[in-house]
Amino acid sequence: MYRAPRGTSDILPREQAYWRYIEQKVVNACQLYGYERIDAPAFEDTKLFSRSVGEDTDIVEKQMYTFEDRGGNKITLRPEGTAPVCRAYLEHGLHNLPQPVKLYYIASIFRYERPQAGRYRQHYQFGFEAIGDDDPALDAEVIDMAWQFFQSLNLRHLSLQLNSIGCKKCRPGYLAILKDYYASHTRDLCSDCKTRLKRNPLRLLDCKKPQCQQIANSAPRSIDYLCPQCDEHFNRVKRYLELLDLPFAVNHRLVRGLDYYTRTVFEIQPEVEGAQTTLGGGGRYDDLIEELGGKPTPALGFAAGIERIILNLKKQNVPIPPLPRPQVFIAHIGDKARDEAIKLAAALRKNGIGVIEAIGNKSLKAQLRQANTLGAHHTVIIGEQEVKTGTVILRDMTTAQQRTIPIVQLQEELR
Ligand code: AMP
Repeated sequence: MYRAPRGTSDILPREQAYWRYIEQKVVNACQLYGYERIDAPAFEDTKLFSRSVGEDTDIVEKQMYTFEDRGGNKITLRPEGTAPVCRAYLEHGLHNLPQPVKLYYIASIFRYERPQAGRYRQHYQFGFEAIGDDDPALDAEVIDMAWQFFQSLNLRHLSLQLNSIGCKKCRPGYLAILKDYYASHTRDLCSDCKTRLKRNPLRLLDCKKPQCQQIANSAPRSIDYLCPQCDEHFNRVKRYLELLDLPFAVNHRLVRGLDYYTRTVFEIQPEVEGAQTTLGGGGRYDDLIEELGGKPTPALGFAAGIERIILNLKKQNVPIPPLPRPQVFIAHIGDKARDEAIKLAAALRKNGIGVIEAIGNKSLKAQLRQANTLGAHHTVIIGEQEVKTGTVILRDMTTAQQRTIPIVQLQEELR
């Protein structure tokens, strides 16, 4: 027996209502804030990701699905959604449009991870990207959009964490101070952090190991070492968030796992802490477009994982609207009735009424049972007698009441 590959899953019909619910809320938010959809390919040139996400990140070091295709090209299945959007922005000259350009995507993401609840090898993310302006009002707008999106899902008990990690001018100074601090604690760090210290010291701050967390809590804070421009930027972001009444908390250990982030970073988390809990996060990536060969173009974005949102919707018992189903089931007894049923189903569908037709030669009882299971509101029953008299029996599946009506009146009745 074949099984879905480890870390992947099938999204069965019974799960689809969650997916449509979330997608609908994403689309609503994007309409409210003026974001347009973009769909990039599922794979890209490997260099796009190694250059943008960063050679020393977990994603590039250990998690990318990279292979050589038959033409000898080095290809990677997208491990995140921002770099492809920036690539498309440059490739299609979107910098010629009025800025900022606001785009959103819903896409599958591939990362070779150790699978566990909330962490998979293929998952889905949606993301918002606002490209072409460094105004802190844009940071506040993206953060507000992410926050309001979660409110619209009816998820509760979320927290909004915020930090600024500076820019290429002020960050090197901070990193030197951070390294100095950690140099006197190396003995107590986990083995991962010992390696990170040399290559990616910011990541020490968000290590989840208890022994490292203590050390990280007392580490120097990036916001104390911002250059005047970054400091002013961060203060304005906070002020706008206050204007918007968003309940944010500054968390100096929030750094995000990708190298392209600058200045503002933020995450939305459920209140219960745990390793795989972050619902979504984002931040500024003011140097990324330039890194990819464009003119200096400040930008920021946000992305969230759909599977994790569903886990939380279930945990909080949030009611999800059911998906629309065909309204009518047609049951029939005998060959002549079946002919009539085939014609009737076609006529109803042509007029926009959803129909499920009984298939095969089941007993009436079995057909009614099936109609019940499928959740049809009404069943139309056709037997020999009805064919002869040009009528049908219309059964209300909730009350089990039936009446015989002329077939020509059926559509009117169903409406
Ligand atoms: P990241 O690109 O790592 O910032 O991830 C953005 C969001 O995607 C996270 O907050 C999660 O909700 C989700 N996510 C990231 N990695 C995974 C994964 N391996 N499996 C499921 N969801 C994930």
